[in-house]
This record gives sequence, structure tokens and C-alpha cells, in this order.
Amino acid sequence: MQANQKFSYELEFFEGQLTPKTAGLTAGFQAVCAFVNDQINNETLEALAKYNIRLIALRCAGFNNVDLENAKRLNITVLRVPAYSPHAVAEHAVALILTLSRKTHKAYNRVREANFSLDRLVGMNIYGKTVGVFGTGKIGQVFAGLMKGFGCEVIAYDPYPNKNLEEDGIKYVSSSELFRRSDILSLHCPLTPETYQIVNNTTLSLMKKGAMLINTSRGKLINTSDVITFLRNKQLGYLGIDVYAEEEKLFFRDLSERIIDDEIIMQLMTFPNVLITAHQAFLTQEALTEIALTTMENIHTFEKGLKSQNEVSVEYIH
Ligand code: NAD
Repeated sequence: MQANQKFSYELEFFEGQLTPKTAGLTAGFQAVCAFVNDQINNETLEALAKYNIRLIALRCAGFNNVDLENAKRLNITVLRVPAYSPHAVAEHAVALILTLSRKTHKAYNRVREANFSLDRLVGMNIYGKTVGVFGTGKIGQVFAGLMKGFGCEVIAYDPYPNKNLEEDGIKYVSSSELFRRSDILSLHCPLTPETYQIVNNTTLSLMKKGAMLINTSRGKLINTSDVITFLRNKQLGYLGIDVYAEEEKLFFRDLSERIIDDEIIMQLMTFPNVLITAHQAFLTQEALTEIALTTMENIHTFEKGLKSQNEVSVEYIH
């Protein structure tokens, strides 16, 4: 692995998820490297502590899957990669928008079967639409700039507005106004107790008929059953998601020969105006290189006993 050349750590790769049951695989190691869908709850942490793991090096930015309180209690340090490529995620959000609006996923399949008809391929322009950005941190900021480039009116909600964006002509509005005015609403906030199921019957009923909802952040920002109701009654026009509330049981695996035991995602997959990708927004060559480098540097900083800016702890979120 290229990023390890400078450090020469002994690395061992395991296929499965990190769960209380697989935590035993860490016996004999000093650190564990984990990702978004690993279950780093108290039970896993207790097992890791038993095997003398002192560091969890997350190779992602989000850390909502880590029980930070118990990590602190067990003296396990948690480091993350706070930023690797906001462009990768923002561009994926745009890819979802363009695919849904121009039905390129359908056109691709049709043409491969020599069906050159244009029936039911009428799309919509992105130019001139009002785009709502929910959370204007690193990713939301890049996304806002991209949508401005399309000639959209970009409005945003964030408890901490960004002056640079305001200077670029992006107007901050209240959360409810954002839901009300957006033709396209894209979620770019973290999953916290405040944002859990921020998209629900109440907020969906504020949205314009036929609006598009995009989520590349975290599945639990959305109440999926409520979204299905709004898709079914044709209030919500399009849904593009890279994340799903129950994705731990599904994503990052090939289940094509299995019966999927999740009726909600099966139902979502039947809608012609729903596009689902399996948490791949981060997956570009550039982002992977950055993730690997920062992860190795995080481990090195910990090994040297230095304080890292990339540490996440309970104090950090309170
Ligand atoms: P960031 O920390 O730079 O920005 C988050 C923004 O959300 C901040 O400006 C913050 O003020 C704002 N925010 C916090 N609470 C809010 C609330 N209640 N309502 C509205 N806004 C709120 O994070 P980022 O790097 O831009 O990443 C955003 C999210 O994207 C991450 O939390 C993660 O869940 C997700 N993500 C997904 C992928 C993927 O592959 N799909 C990859 C990386 C990150």
C-alpha cells in the first residue's frame, strides 16, 4: 500500500464488518482501522479494550457510529479523516441530480437494447431552479458553488452561516423556508440528535409538489417511510440517495443472489423516480489517496504520543 511506504506499519486486512462478534480479530494488534458502517458500540469497544486496542483510526469523516463516551471511558483514542475530498461527495450529489433530471440511467439501458425511442424521457432543466443546501460545511459549500455554476438560485440553511458564501450571493434562510422554496433540496449536514429524521412528514409537507430530494450525508437524516408516502402520493417528484437508514445490513456487499430482507429499500427500488447508490459518493481515486495518507499520518501521530487535530471525543461534540 503506497500510503504506508513512509511508515512501514504491519497491516492486515479483514473482509467483514467490525462488530462485537468480529472484535476478537484484533487480538495482537495495537490499532484498528474502521469505516462508516462498522458497529463501534459499547460492546465492540469493551472487546477492543480487552485486546488492548488503544486507537481507532477511522478512514472517514463521519463518526456517528462510534460510542465516543465509552471510547473515552475505556481510554481508546478515536481519530478520523475530517476532509479528504469534499469535491468527490458534492460532485456525486450533482451526478444524482443530473441522472434523475435527464433519466440517463434509463436511456443507457434502453440504447443497449437498441431501443432508441424517446418515450418517457422528457427531463427538466437544472438552470434557473432554486436549490436548497442543508448544511454549508466543506461539502455543502462546494455543492453550492457547483449549482451556482449551473445558473441556479442557491439558498441555504446552517446554524453557522458562512460569510464567504453570502458574499458569493448565496442567501441563508430558515430551515422551514429552505424546505418550502427549494426545487432541489440537498442534505449536507452531519447526523446529530438535532438532524435525526429532519426529513419527515412535517418537513416534506412544506416542500413544493414535484421537488427533488438528494441525500449524500447520512441515511438517518430521512424518515424513509414518510418519504415513501410522499413519493406514492406524487408530492415528492424525485429522490436521489447515496445513504440509507438501514444501510449497515446491505451496503458494501454483493447481495445479488440473496433475498433482501428489507421491505423499505425494496419498495424504494420500485419507484421510477428514485435513484439509489450504495454509499459511493466518496469513492474517487483522489479521495482514496487522501484518506489513506491521512489515516497513516493519524496512526503515526498517535504512536508518537502527539495530540492530533483529527481526534474526535465527547467534548468535541458537546
Ligand atoms: P462539515 O462538518 O464540514 O459540515 C457540516 C455542516 O453542517 C456545518 O457547516 C455545520 O454547521 C452544519 N450543521 C450542523 N448541524 C446542523 C443542523 N442542525 N442543520 C443544518 N446544518 C447543520 O462536514 P462535511 O465534510 O461537509 O460533511 C457533511 C456530511 O457528509 C458528513 O457529516 C457525512 O455525514 C457526509 N459524508 C458522506 C459521504 C459519502 O460518501 N456519502 C462522504 C463524506 C461525508
